[in-house]
Amino acid sequence: MGFDNETLSRILELQEVDKVLFSFKERLKKIPEEIENKRKEISEIENKIKKEEGEIRNMEKEIRSLYLDLQEIEDKIKKFSADLMKVKTNEEYRACLTEIESAKNRKREIEDEILEKEETLEERKKIFERFKNMVRDKIEMEKENLKKLEKEREEIPVKIKQAEDLRKRRAILVDKNALEEYERILKGRGLPAVCEILVQNEKEERKFFCGGCNSQVPFLTLDEMMRTQRTSKCHYCGRILYIKRESI
Ligand SMILES: [Zn+2]
Repeated sequence: MGFDNETLSRILELQEVDKVLFSFKERLKKIPEEIENKRKEISEIENKIKKEEGEIRNMEKEIRSLYLDLQEIEDKIKKFSADLMKVKTNEEYRACLTEIESAKNRKREIEDEILEKEETLEERKKIFERFKNMVRDKIEMEKENLKKLEKEREEIPVKIKQAEDLRKRRAILVDKNALEEYERILKGRGLPAVCEILVQNEKEERKFFCGGCNSQVPFLTLDEMMRTQRTSKCHYCGRILYIKRESI
């Protein structure tokens, strides 16, 4: 029953590699989603910039078209003013004056509209410049992070291969039956399959717990472990238990 100290230490070395392998594999599972999120984050900012650039261009177009309207109305005023010299009757004269008056009103309206739109545009451009300056570094940083993630995604499989090679070399050194038992527990319970007994001092009494499932380990089990210098098993979860000499 149980493993001697040498078998235990070889199994613990094997378990170290398995922990590393496990964390690499877990990491590899998460990377695609992280890459996806980074890409989304970057394109969201870039789209925001594009959208605002489009809106600013539209505002500039509107203003240009208002200047054309203004030109047109000024031409109209000139034409009516010239007509004024040529009219024959008072009625025609009055009609002409009315046209000039309403054209002048329209001209003022357009000028006001241009002024208002130009002010709004200028303010919007300022805000946009500030926004671009603010996100420029962020975009650079996120692109840098994206590159790192892509590099990590390429490197982890290599690291997994190396760890698997190391695992093979370590597994050879472990007694066949012990290895089988370790792997069976690992498959059923996951890491750790071998765990240290945790000691808790409560007043005068010491209590011992399984480092895997936290259930209490009877003192008799401890006593036997000390006597035989071998590992034991958790009665609850079945994991292999060991205790460090200095814990006793
Ligand atoms: Zn347990």
